[in-house]
Amino acid sequence: MERYEFAELQRKALEALNIPLVIYQFIDNRVVTLLVTDGMSKLMGVSKEEIIDLFDKDMYKDTHPDDKARVADAAYKFASGTGNYDVVYRSMSKKINDYVIVHAHGEHYFAEHGEMLSTTVYMVEGLGGGQDDKITGEIASNYQDLLKKESLIRDNFYDSLTGLPNMSYFLMLADAGKKALIEEGLSPCMLFFDLTGMKFFNQKYSIHEGDNLICAFGQILKNHFSTENCGRLSQDHFAAYTASDGLEEELEQIFDELQKANEEKTLPVRVGIYSITYGDVTSSAACDRAKIACDQGRGSYNSKYYYYSDELHKQMLMHQYVVNNFERAMENRWILPYYQEIVRSVNGCVCDEEALARWIDPEKGLLPPDKFIPVLEDTQLIHKLDLYLLDRVLEDLKETKDTGHPFVPVSINLSRNDFVLCDIVGEIISRVEASEFTPDYITIEITESVSSLDISYIGEQIKRFHDAGFKVWMDDFGSGYSSLNILQKLDFDTIKFDLRFMREFGESKKSHIILEELVKMATKLGIETVVEGVETIEQVKFLREIGAIKQQGYYYAKPISLNDWFTIFDSRIGLVMENKDELDYYNTIGSTNLVEPKINADYNWQLDEFFGQIPMGIIEVKNRATRILRYNNTFAKFLIKTDYTTEDKLGGASIPSNKLIPIGLNDALKKAYKTGKWEYMENIGEDSLSVNCFIKYLSGNQVSGFYAFEIVILSMDTIDKD
Ligand code: C2E
Ligand code: CA
Ligand code: CA
Repeated sequence: MERYEFAELQRKALEALNIPLVIYQFIDNRVVTLLVTDGMSKLMGVSKEEIIDLFDKDMYKDTHPDDKARVADAAYKFASGTGNYDVVYRSMSKKINDYVIVHAHGEHYFAEHGEMLSTTVYMVEGLGGGQDDKITGEIASNYQDLLKKESLIRDNFYDSLTGLPNMSYFLMLADAGKKALIEEGLSPCMLFFDLTGMKFFNQKYSIHEGDNLICAFGQILKNHFSTENCGRLSQDHFAAYTASDGLEEELEQIFDELQKANEEKTLPVRVGIYSITYGDVTSSAACDRAKIACDQGRGSYNSKYYYYSDELHKQMLMHQYVVNNFERAMENRWILPYYQEIVRSVNGCVCDEEALARWIDPEKGLLPPDKFIPVLEDTQLIHKLDLYLLDRVLEDLKETKDTGHPFVPVSINLSRNDFVLCDIVGEIISRVEASEFTPDYITIEITESVSSLDISYIGEQIKRFHDAGFKVWMDDFGSGYSSLNILQKLDFDTIKFDLRFMREFGESKKSHIILEELVKMATKLGIETVVEGVETIEQVKFLREIGAIKQQGYYYAKPISLNDWFTIFDSRIGLVMENKDELDYYNTIGSTNLVEPKINADYNWQLDEFFGQIPMGIIEVKNRATRILRYNNTFAKFLIKTDYTTEDKLGGASIPSNKLIPIGLNDALKKAYKTGKWEYMENIGEDSLSVNCFIKYLSGNQVSGFYAFEIVILSMDTIDKD
């Protein structure tokens, strides 16, 4: 490396400075003094040439012996290119023949051809001994003032940990700097940096180690963008502005360096980039947008950069619109519940409705919940929406009742944050108590994302709902990672399988098996099951067969407004509403486990030892007329073979049978009705058919007059008449 030569004019201007300053260059691990100012000469009381000579011979000659090692160590680290030089030590003053306290502060910079130079400023902070010399006293106090000003500047403009400009100063610098870039014909961009997992890092290693990492990252940014082009905004958030050319390569280098920084005790970093129209907005706005871009990477644990896009821009405008207009939207009733029907598998009747929020905006038209719910969650307003929607649901129930329409329980959705933002349970209880409806008409849906809150607290809240008479459903089961865990810890009445199960339905047989096993598990736990997102008849048939109790999806109905529902209901083209008096009957039928019948309890037979899938089903009978309520696959085959039904009718709810049941079977049913136990029936059937089976009476429907029985077929013989 060559010795750096200043241009003549530059050297003169620098040497004339009154600040005690020395410029060094590091050549082959050696410190070479390039330039000394008049201020430095005055401070030391010797000529500039003498200083250079002195430094070249023995840099630490005047340093107090006890301080030598420390100063030399700091200087060595500084010379090797890491960090700034900041030492306070005692140095012998020729003028007063005693030690003075010197504060040396050095920073690196790079000259045109990549030479690493450093400027070190020396400040006398006071006298080392106790002497009171007038002149040095004055010099000292002058520098004290300077120092105070300097530290004032530092405190107000720079971050004390990293030495980078703080947020407000950085934004000022960036506003000026981007103009310079534009004038040079370059396109400026704003970068936002967020170290990923800082909280966890601090817990794992200590806050001190966290500070070290932050300093190391600050240093990387300084090296790439220079001190005045980057800043520390807060905690582990940094920003920088630069020209867009070559940016991606630069970022990849930064990622590499960060990976090796702080002795590899380090973290990945996410970067947001804002470049479009940065010329037209303030650096502050640009920084906000870079942050929004950066947040796209939430949840990712690799170093990566993300651009601010037009799509993101639209989202941001929507975000602002929602926040600014939310109160107005409630006042003007732009937000209202839409209702989606939930259908009971066995009878095809509507047994519940789910209230789903819609925002019908006079300007923007219909806004679905994904446009405003995440915003309200982010801005901690979501509980207001959820309570408002409950009020609207209670009003709608009243209107339904007052106009003589039938109604079923309505479920409302709660967000995780509702439990953080207010006493949501108390608020809901008091609203429902003030209405004319009992709590069994309002069902609470809670998503599995509550698992990130204190689980015992959520458990208590669910208990409060239960004690007050509300049913609590777990929504979106299977969408996260903790479904099974919270199912074990929390007491839900119902689980609602996430849409994804139906989305994957057509794609793999595996999803069928998983869903079947999960429904089986829930049934064993005494938890009711709802499957949402049902769109096709194949799905409907499958869900009936595996015993999913309720279904919801576009196959049956889309969410609609109450007025639309009235229109459809009144024109009698809609689904039939379930009568509340039939509830016990259908609950019994729904909760009967067709997978493993409890015959064993009465007969001590281990049925599945002998059979693969045993034909099992539930039929309901009135005066020998039969309807098939539930069946498994093999029972369906039996029904077709015996002409009770045809292939095309399967999958429908309560399938009426093609013919009356034989007298023998009817008598057997009567017997089972009387005992209430599993009854074994031999040779019942018609002329050409002999059937052995188990039968058990389940329940009677007061409204329709039908009686339901569970049937397990053990064998079937066709009797050859010839
Ligand atoms: P969710 O509670 O899981 O609601 C089910 C969503 O799936 C609804 O979307 C519904 O319209 C849709 N859906 C129903 N059947 C089908 C189907 O067969 N196929 C498909 N592809 N989709 C179907 P929506 O109404 O857009 O609601 C989205 C989410 O917004 C809801 O998911 C819920 O998490 C949230 N949400 C809606 N209203 C509220 C509310 O009042 N409060 C809170 N906190 N969240 C709400
Ligand atoms: Ca829901
Ligand atoms: Ca759901």
